[in-house]
Amino acid sequence: MKCVSCKATMIVLELDQVEVDYCLECGGTWLDSGELELLLENPDEVKKLLHHPALSGKAERGDKKCPICQKGMNEIALGSGKPVHIDLCRKEHGLWFDRGELKEIIDILGGEVNVKVADLLQDIFGEKKNKI
Ligand SMILES: [Zn+2]
Ligand SMILES: [Zn+2]
Repeated sequence: MKCVSCKATMIVLELDQVEVDYCLECGGTWLDSGELELLLENPDEVKKLLHHPALSGKAERGDKKCPICQKGMNEIALGSGKPVHIDLCRKEHGLWFDRGELKEIIDILGGEVNVKVADLLQDIFGEKKNKI
């Protein structure tokens, strides 16, 4: 799969049997909604995340395209103060996170997502980020 942001070829990281596409060039991460579901181990958690009030709020048309349907994705500002911008396919194919954003999202959503998964993601992406 090509990186949504810089078009480099992404590598696949295996995370507890879930495949996550990761770009070594820019540190971006693509998560299919199916993968998100596996990661969170609970489809309800995914719905909660995708339909989180903070996510459904200030959606704007962004300049990135979904790697699956090639349609423009919505750019969503999440959180107040210094918002994190994530990109969400309007057909819910998945979510795009620029470098470090996944961790920030986990911090914002805090206790609302499965803690085990949050720790796991934090471990992996925290480590990755330090190495680069
Ligand atoms: Zn990239
Ligand atoms: Zn799509």
